[in-house]
Amino acid sequence: MSEQCIFCKISAGTIPAKRIYEDDDVLAFADIAPQAPVHVLVIPRRHIPSLDGLTEADRGLAGHLLERVAHIARLLGVAEAGYRTIINTHDDGGQEVYHIHVHLLAGKRIGPMVARA
Ligand code: 5GP
Ligand code: ZN
Repeated sequence: MSEQCIFCKISAGTIPAKRIYEDDDVLAFADIAPQAPVHVLVIPRRHIPSLDGLTEADRGLAGHLLERVAHIARLLGVAEAGYRTIINTHDDGGQEVYHIHVHLLAGKRIGPMVARA
């Protein structure tokens, strides 16, 4: 838990969010500014700042996180139609919140790339 981190606070329940799925290691909640009809953020509860911060020791957690993304897409009923997953990393990747998260976007046809200012 990082004291200043907004996603750690959401994980702990001290900041509210629309929670979609949770287990001991992973939490999914609705993005506050959705870019698609379905826009969910999937995070590990453990504070890892970015994809760039992943180490060999995180392989199990990273695998679980990705598998849960697929599970959540099925849970939301969007898996068959399809969805877009994005992990933004550092400035050029457009990362704003420094707690690693996977964007899960669905519910409309998303173009070849998502570019966000
Ligand atoms: P990034 O640009 O870091 O990949 O994405 C951060 C995402 O977090 C953005 O899509 C933004 O809308 C979302 N976000 C930022 N603050 C909050 C918040 O307090 N609650 C929720 N649910 N989402 C947030
Ligand atoms: Zn955090």
